[in-house]
Amino acid sequence: MSDTGACGRVYVVAKTELGRLIERLWAEGYTVVGPTVAQGAIVFDELRGVDQLPIGWTDEQERGTYRLKRRDDDAYFGYAVGPHSWKKYLFPSRLTLFSIERTADGFTVQPGAETVPRYAFLGVRSCDLHAIAVQDRTFLGGPHVDPHYQARREGALIIAVQCGTAAPTCFCASMGTGPHARTGFDLALTEFTDSFLVEVGTERGGALLDGLSTRDATGEDLSKAEEIVADTAQAQTRRLDTSDMPALLYENLEHSRWDDVAGRCLSCTNCTMVCPTCFCHSVEEVPDLSGERSERVRQWESCFNPEFSHVAGGSTRPEIRERYRQWLTHKLASWIDQFGVSGCVGCGRCITWCPTGIDLTEEVAAIRGSDRA
Ligand code: SF4
Ligand code: SF4
Repeated sequence: MSDTGACGRVYVVAKTELGRLIERLWAEGYTVVGPTVAQGAIVFDELRGVDQLPIGWTDEQERGTYRLKRRDDDAYFGYAVGPHSWKKYLFPSRLTLFSIERTADGFTVQPGAETVPRYAFLGVRSCDLHAIAVQDRTFLGGPHVDPHYQARREGALIIAVQCGTAAPTCFCASMGTGPHARTGFDLALTEFTDSFLVEVGTERGGALLDGLSTRDATGEDLSKAEEIVADTAQAQTRRLDTSDMPALLYENLEHSRWDDVAGRCLSCTNCTMVCPTCFCHSVEEVPDLSGERSERVRQWESCFNPEFSHVAGGSTRPEIRERYRQWLTHKLASWIDQFGVSGCVGCGRCITWCPTGIDLTEEVAAIRGSDRA
């Protein structure tokens, strides 16, 4: 796990050194994952070299819209965020917890066969560093530590990349979660035209630079890097005012806006699947056809599914109105009671990937607007 003590050393490395860093990580036993172009989007996958990065690509995003677009330069990380978040590695969407097999004497129980890689995450944005911290509280912070998350998280090395591009859906600046990554990384890169500014966050990160060609960063390098993230913050047009949370939502549980949004929401679950902090899951028994073997499988679940709140007598949230209200109220209000922080880091994924373009910043503003009228 990355410690958060910033070592404070800052270097500049040529872009050509990034390939050597990736090679070194694999040689040291890490599974390197980062952004690449696939399925018409910038997604996360295993990376063997820089040629797999989305070089020269950017993403155009708006509510319910995502398009890849060519940039007029060869930036390696010149995009905002894609549909994937790092939870797909730390909290896999489907995981076999254990299997049970019938034997002559009864049955045997075997742990899930999946090996846990030691991940190196390359290209982690500030909002996603905060999302990982939110999931750390959920899976590691309480009395019941999740051993599957813990095994993945403890080994993970984090190489952040400061944001040089803001999508219109981003609102991390208003949430205090970005775009400047300040802590929670082993290394943080700021991309220049032919080089990277590299901030060292941990001793482990600093050791990775040994043997690479580096030079100390100058004051001019530092100013240039500051300017890049400052411009990105400035470019963000969306914002979410959380100053009156959680009271605003608790006091408006019967607001007419919930009926309005229910008329647009398909209860498709997309927003919860792409959200980097959503952690709900279900556990199912998956027997084979012979009846000799069964697997206990954990998979992502969503509060937008009516079965999610099924108890004796039926679902406690049968209407979409109740399910959207539950999601938004948990994310922005009761999450604070539960974990001490907001469940939203302002990444904007739920806005982009909602098929009907529902925008939580607009829903909150609408509730606040008529509440104050
Ligand atoms: S609620 Fe939406 S904007 Fe907030 S963290 Fe989740 S996906 Fe990102
Ligand atoms: S808010 Fe949008 S993404 Fe979320 S469940 Fe409703 S329609 Fe799907």
